[in-house]
Amino acid sequence: MVMKSGGVQIGSVLFPERAVFIDGGWSTIRSAEVIPVSNPATEELISEVIETPPEYLESAFKSARRALKTWSVTPPEVRASYLEALATVMLRSREELARLASSEIGMPISDARSTQVDLPIQVLKSFAELARSHAWEFEDQSGSTIVHEAAGVVLAITPWNFPVHQIVAKVAPALAAGCTVVLKPAELTPLNALAIASMCAEIGLPPGVLNVVTGTGLRAGRSLVALADYDVVSFTGSLAVGRQIGAAAGGAIVRMTLELGGKSPALVLADADLESAVRTTVKNCFVNAGQKCNAPTRLLVPEGSLCDAVNIAKVVADKYVLGDPLLESTTMGPLVSANQRRKVNEYIANATSSGADVARRSADIPSGRGYFVNPAIVSKVDRDAPIVREEVFGPVLVVQGYRSEEDALEMANDSEYGLSAEVWSGDQEKARAVAKHICAGQVRINGARTQMPPVSPFGGYKRSGIGRELGPSGLDEFIEVKAILGARAGWPK
Ligand code: NAD
Repeated sequence: MVMKSGGVQIGSVLFPERAVFIDGGWSTIRSAEVIPVSNPATEELISEVIETPPEYLESAFKSARRALKTWSVTPPEVRASYLEALATVMLRSREELARLASSEIGMPISDARSTQVDLPIQVLKSFAELARSHAWEFEDQSGSTIVHEAAGVVLAITPWNFPVHQIVAKVAPALAAGCTVVLKPAELTPLNALAIASMCAEIGLPPGVLNVVTGTGLRAGRSLVALADYDVVSFTGSLAVGRQIGAAAGGAIVRMTLELGGKSPALVLADADLESAVRTTVKNCFVNAGQKCNAPTRLLVPEGSLCDAVNIAKVVADKYVLGDPLLESTTMGPLVSANQRRKVNEYIANATSSGADVARRSADIPSGRGYFVNPAIVSKVDRDAPIVREEVFGPVLVVQGYRSEEDALEMANDSEYGLSAEVWSGDQEKARAVAKHICAGQVRINGARTQMPPVSPFGGYKRSGIGRELGPSGLDEFIEVKAILGARAGWPK
């Protein structure tokens, strides 16, 4: 990434500083309040974005509404070709986009390549494929014609932890369905969203199909939600904000998709390979320094294996190399902000003072700047402790022993969340049978990662949210269904 005077350049992608993308063009708003964007590994300023003033938020919605007329009736195969063109441009700027994401979030560069570029490219391609293959119009058993149409203008509000993926997981299905979008990315990581806007301009996406405005949740976010000039709101973030957005969407009677938090269990059955289960769970839990909504943060093992599991986990945790996320040798970057670091440290201090056993290196944090925290393995903790029940969003794994399989399932499901879970067993069929009893939107067997193409639904039971992302279920969130009654001439044949 190169900072030009007044602009940011990522490979061949260039966008102006302090500007928002509305109606296919950039509006630089000099009078607007400025929000600094910093690198969490160095605490240095990377760039600045603006708190978009209300009149520009309104024009973003107006632009999306205007564009909807044409985009919603653009043939699905044409919409698909735009998604593929965007994937091609992303691939061309792969390294620069990964470096930008890494600098904004603090994610190790190899993870940024795979989760912030390669995965979004696969998601774009999968929705292009779905746009082409989806049954947009068909006859039902009664002879009525069922028409699938764009649900309308979408308000997309996204978080900072996997920002490019989280944006593409909303924008790709929305565009595939013929919807137009107003996107507000997280204030901590807005630059990748502006880079995507610039790429959309480059591929000639019609004006107004994607609009990107920046700002804080409390100002721009709240104002966008309150404007209610949208037909669908798709939000990923915290439970607290999800509640507010859900209440507003309920009041306005608009469709909503809420991807909220998780406190996911990794359930290791007695016949599992303990060493492999624990090692992989620690790694899955500590991806992006634990700032991952579906991280397996509660490791459940048979009571008799608790000591061994904790020891294995400690060995893996101790091997993490903290440091500059842009170095290939770094395996854990900083947390995204000082606030996030304070929150994580408070959970650990609280657990320690309540008598939990917390294994955590005291040294090896890069000296000087950056929001680094050492990974922690927590055991001997009460089942109702905050660190067991609440989303910590840091490199913290809680290890608990269970008395029986029944007890294990009860512990696994004893959470207000239900985003994802893992089951480990030497017997795949047994693991699958146990998986069916777990209240979670995704259950991974023996540490499975996201399958390719990324079309399996992702989303939560219980307080983890409403709706699904990815694949056909993700497309459905942006589709309105119409039944035209009255059989066609000649029906039934
Ligand atoms: P957040 O919910 O505060 O913010 C997410 C997005 O919503 C951001 O774009 C933010 O600007 C916006 N926002 C915030 N308040 C808003 C409001 N009142 N109205 C409209 N938009 C608003 O999440 P965060 O601050 O990014 O992180 C806080 C916690 O949320 C984390 O510690 C974690 O527990 C959770 N989180 C979960 C996920 C997930 O994928 N499930 C992702 C990020 C964060």
